[in-house]
Parts: sequence; structure tokens; C-alpha cells
Amino acid sequence: MTTTPPADAGQRRMARPIICYDVDALPPFDAAFYGAVREALTLSDTIRIPPRDARAFEVPAGHVFRIVSVEGPQVGDLNLWSAHCLNERFFSGKTRQLHATHVTTGDRLWSNLPGLRPMATITHDTLGWYGWDGDGAGVHDVIGTRCDPYTNFMLHGVAYHYCCHSNLTRALAAHKQMALVEAEPYVHDVLNVFMCTGFTRNTHQYFMKASPVRPGDFIEFFAEIDLLAALSACTGGDCGASHSDDEAPCFALQVEIYAPDAAALEDWHSPKPNGYSRTHG
Ligand SMILES: [Zn+2]
Repeated sequence: MTTTPPADAGQRRMARPIICYDVDALPPFDAAFYGAVREALTLSDTIRIPPRDARAFEVPAGHVFRIVSVEGPQVGDLNLWSAHCLNERFFSGKTRQLHATHVTTGDRLWSNLPGLRPMATITHDTLGWYGWDGDGAGVHDVIGTRCDPYTNFMLHGVAYHYCCHSNLTRALAAHKQMALVEAEPYVHDVLNVFMCTGFTRNTHQYFMKASPVRPGDFIEFFAEIDLLAALSACTGGDCGASHSDDEAPCFALQVEIYAPDAAALEDWHSPKPNGYSRTHG
């Protein structure tokens, strides 16, 4: 319902936008350091993520991992936890506020409160060229949540078991040998890898469009802490039409884990949890 604008509506709308966080105070992206790490990488493990399913994997601090498109255009939903404590997990909302709605090379994936530290840094993104398109869309978003059977049931009245939320739950439960009900609360809002999304200009609704990813494309991360990760190959495939059903063509994704040359990490320290005292006044 619209309301009547006050006489000074125009003036009120003229307030200047202010970037919420002084991101210049963040530790800078040290391109020389990450560049040196990338120069000598040894492949240590490869994990195939089957379509409409997920797998969990661990990445030691200082190692690098890539999510690679291998068969066809496919979106992936990524969860991250501290390998030592499932309560410390990826915080998509704060990552969005510190960086942007979509992330690329140089951006970090931050953990939730009270840890609030970089869990991973994006060190390469072959889709970095995409930028922002004519619809205002970009790639690798931290605005969507993850497709889930509850929303799908609410909207369509059907039980579909292969949404990313369920895939991630099964993958975490299998990896930690937990019951599904025990694992489910640890599943959280994702990094939507390769997903092309934005907000419509007229109604500001979340939209998706076919991902520009093609086989050979990858996004690469440096693990800042010991990570447990889970990746789901979304039921939406390239997310150009539908999701949460068996309609879209879906493809496998590949995860590659690389060990660095020890010399490149000589002066590097894994970030400590946030320094705030937690006394809350
Ligand atoms: Zn999904």
C-alpha cells in the first residue's frame, strides 16, 4: 500500500549514501603473497560432486582449493566450517556487508560471531571478467540462501529431497558420522558459486539467470584456517530456468585441493579469532 509523501519527501531522499563499513581498515589483500603461493601448487586431492548431491571435504590452513566446472554449466552451493568447531561457520551476511553482494578475487569469506575472521580468501576467479551485466546481475553471490525442501514444500506442496540444504545436510552427516537431525542445524547460508543473480530494478526481488560458467572455469580459495567444507551441485543446474525439481540439466562439479610450497608460507600466520572481549558491557 502506498502512502502520501510528506512535503519534504524529496529532501529526505537526498541524504547521501554512506558505505556502512570502513573496509579500508581490513587487512589488505596481499597480492604478492597469494601470487607466490599460487606459483608452486601440488595437487593433493580431487573430489567429484555428483549432480543433485553434495560432498564434504577438508582443507588444511595454507592449502588452496578450486571449484571447477567440468561437464557443463552448473551452480554450486558452498558451506564452510572450522575443521575444529562446527559452531564457527561461514557468515554470508557479514561477508556481503564487508565486500559486496557478489564476491571475486581479493574478497574473503568471513566466519560468524564471535570468531569473525577470514576463513578463506578468493585467489583466482576465471569469471572475474563478468562484472555487472545489463540486468545488474553478477556471479558468485552471497545474497541467496540455499534451495531447501521447506520453502519448496510451502510453495508447491511437494517433498523434494535433493535441494542444496538437504544435500549439504547429508554430506555433513556422512562426513562427521552424525544423524541427519544432528547435522542439519549446522547447514547455513551459502556462497552461491558460479550463480548469476541480482535484484530486479522495479521490485528489488532476487532473480537468477543462466550462469556464464563453462567447463574449465574455476574459482580458487586460499584456506586461512583449517576448513571443513561441503559443496552441493544445485538442482537448478545453471539456474537459468528452475530449481528444487528434476527439470534442469545438472552436471558434476570438481573440487581440487592443492598443497603449497612450504617456503611460500614461511612468514604467514593463520588469522586468530576476533579480539573483542565478549563482555558486552
Ligand atoms: Zn540449490
